[in-house]
Amino acid sequence: MTDALKVSGLWVDYRTKATWASAVRGVDLTVGAGEVIGVVGESGSGKSSLALAIMKLLPANAKARGRIEVLGRDMVGLPSREAHRYRGAGMTMIFQEPMTSLNPVMRVSEQLSEAVRSRGEHHKLEMYRADSLIVPGGRDPRFALGPERSAPPSKEAVDALRQVRISDPERTASKYPHELSGGERQRVMIAMSFLLRPRVLVADEPTTALDVTTQAQVLSLLLGLSRDEGTSVIFVSHDILVVGQVAQRVAVMYAGEVVELGPTEAVLKNPLHPYTKGLIGSIPSGFKGGKRIEQIPGSPPDILALPSGCKFNPRCKFAMERCRTEETSMKEMEKDHFVACHLY
Ligand code: SF4
Repeated sequence: MTDALKVSGLWVDYRTKATWASAVRGVDLTVGAGEVIGVVGESGSGKSSLALAIMKLLPANAKARGRIEVLGRDMVGLPSREAHRYRGAGMTMIFQEPMTSLNPVMRVSEQLSEAVRSRGEHHKLEMYRADSLIVPGGRDPRFALGPERSAPPSKEAVDALRQVRISDPERTASKYPHELSGGERQRVMIAMSFLLRPRVLVADEPTTALDVTTQAQVLSLLLGLSRDEGTSVIFVSHDILVVGQVAQRVAVMYAGEVVELGPTEAVLKNPLHPYTKGLIGSIPSGFKGGKRIEQIPGSPPDILALPSGCKFNPRCKFAMERCRTEETSMKEMEKDHFVACHLY
């Protein structure tokens, strides 16, 4: 499988009043073309900073170090203006709250048409520059004011809404984002992704705010996008059960590091890291034949005061002296299943 995304030795540092603090610490990760990879961890594990760094959308007080190659191009060294043009057609991101990405003053149909136009420009350009995925213009459609009167929604926009199973797509197309429910807005974002046909899609907690039925539908839509368009998906979630439903591989993050990585079935059925075991234990029915495993005591560490050695040691019931002094590194325990823990 060709790599659509290759993250190597990535650090994300945030400037605080007195110092810099690292939210992502030396992450290595590859995502194949058309692969769905889940990135899971508690709040503060660094998974959202990783997602934002991949999209080059980190806030002004943060900086990334290392390499993030998207389709062979390094995002870390890419100037912001060029990165903005790179997003859209080549890469898109779906957030937990779709209003973050939707333009509140543009009708759904206009935003979907904008996506079609971006794709058209992208395809035109690709014919001339096979090495590039830049969308010309560099205009951010989120801040464009829509026309007073809306043209009738295009057939492609309505079809995209139908594809994401929005009832009455013509009517929905003529609405503004605030007139839609959270589930409908998330479907509109996915419809937009269908139209853009990105090579890489980063989805950060895309189903967290949705009810269970809508969540299942949105997950199946994302899987369809990956299967039908060959889109590589980085699916970020705090919920290992949700990740288990969509991802082919799972990366478990703790205190900014990937502590376990492997095929989803291997990680869920045979978790190796005590933290992964704890995450699975926090699922009501778990994966251990319905038997509940112990939950994780305590809370994630403050990135300004990380413990020495294994960052999980203050919460780990298996912690040994070595765990408090010696950093861990990834070891392959079975085919493609890696863990960073001194128990192995
Ligand atoms: Fe627990 Fe030690 Fe493994 Fe860390 S290295 S998870 S403290 S056993």
